[in-house]
Amino acid sequence: MRLHYFAVARRQLLTSSTLRLASQAGFKAAPRRFNSSTTEPLKESLSPLAKHLHDSMKITGPITMAHYMRQVLVNPLSGYYMKGDVFGTEGDFVTSPEISQMFGELAGIWYLTEWHRLGKPSKTQLVEFGPGRGTLMDDMLRAMARFPEMYKTIQGVQLVEASPGLRKVQRAKLIPGSQESDVKLIEDSQSGHVQQCIRSDGIAINWYDGIEDLPEVWSMIMAHEFFDALAIHTFEKTDEGWREMLVDFDDTNETEYNFRLVRCPQETNASKTLTQNDMFKDYKTGDRIEISPDSWEVMRKMAELVDRNGGVGLAIDYGQDYAQGHTLRAIRQHKIVHPMSDPGSADLSADVDFLALKNAAKPVSSVSTYGPVTQGQFLHSLGIETRLKVLLKGAKTRERALDMIKSYERLVNPEEMGQIYKVLAFANNEDNSNVPVAFETSPSKQ
Ligand code: SAH
Repeated sequence: MRLHYFAVARRQLLTSSTLRLASQAGFKAAPRRFNSSTTEPLKESLSPLAKHLHDSMKITGPITMAHYMRQVLVNPLSGYYMKGDVFGTEGDFVTSPEISQMFGELAGIWYLTEWHRLGKPSKTQLVEFGPGRGTLMDDMLRAMARFPEMYKTIQGVQLVEASPGLRKVQRAKLIPGSQESDVKLIEDSQSGHVQQCIRSDGIAINWYDGIEDLPEVWSMIMAHEFFDALAIHTFEKTDEGWREMLVDFDDTNETEYNFRLVRCPQETNASKTLTQNDMFKDYKTGDRIEISPDSWEVMRKMAELVDRNGGVGLAIDYGQDYAQGHTLRAIRQHKIVHPMSDPGSADLSADVDFLALKNAAKPVSSVSTYGPVTQGQFLHSLGIETRLKVLLKGAKTRERALDMIKSYERLVNPEEMGQIYKVLAFANNEDNSNVPVAFETSPSKQ
């Protein structure tokens, strides 16, 4: 769970001494580590990725936060996600589907009810963005398999995953007993190269590089903790207008980090284009906002896919229904670290702006968005208590039962993940005026 670290992260960012503007703004400097012999702060050693970033900044100058995040997370050679399994108690963080099977099972039931509501299409596909360990998809499939009328319509499970290491973990989870040699490379005229592995129940699991390559089929789309991993730009409002915060190398003795944030004195392409939206007109001098055009693009393409073929989707993440400015955080082995610390060795993520996602889907007129509702509301509406009771009956030991109750609390308690995690739904609703289950009380936007 990445949220737990949120409050700490914000505090740490605010006290960071890596901000060039920190002294002007009156922030306190973070405690410094000193080399005992020289009383100089000890710089972190440069990993190959950090060295590459450092060298290129020396030649071309500071880079956007979006460029930094993409390099740190999905650089094919040394990006954070490229190393494979980063989840769980042994990894860097834990997510909802990893906490309890109930999460994925109830999500599966949500898609089932949508399939009914939208006329029981005879051919469907499941699409997941950033499937992590594959746990969520596995739990969804198991829940859906109990409803053969719907299950037999599934033509394929399409996974959009950047990390080859995580693709392997997903294969092992979704096709138990499979080997890497069971994965076939399919040449498809529409999609190019697709990696495919078939399950024993006949469903094909396919891996794609991007949304552009997905088959044109009625879709059930899931994006869980995906949008928060997409790159953001950061802007600060000044008396002269929005200015972009860039990442520069830091060879001063002020901190141990090799990089720092600087405010670009002039406009950048991004500050000129991305901030010119009504969503950002009420911010004041000194305010910061984080904007993720990569997320806007993916959301627009998801809406276009369900516009062309029919379908529904869920985007589940922590965030708010407006843009925030200081949410970028880095987590390494369950601890908050500085976002500039040893890039590539820690997860980087930022809160999702659900209003921006809804606006990205808006121009697609056949698609309505619903919510966001809180994760607690979503899971309660789908009957998480009833599911918990059934699981408790089957619990073999008292410890196991207590574990189940604890996991349930983590998922729905507003103090834990129940409130800050939000669920946004979207659907091609053209022939149906009903609202998706769990979203009855939240206004829809067309
Ligand atoms: N949904 C999972 C994992 C969340 S972590 C869960 O909740 O447990 C983010 C996931 O998105 C990882 O699988 C990561 O490899 C993938 N990812 C990150 N950036 C990506 C990108 N640009 N394209 C495709 N996948 C990406």
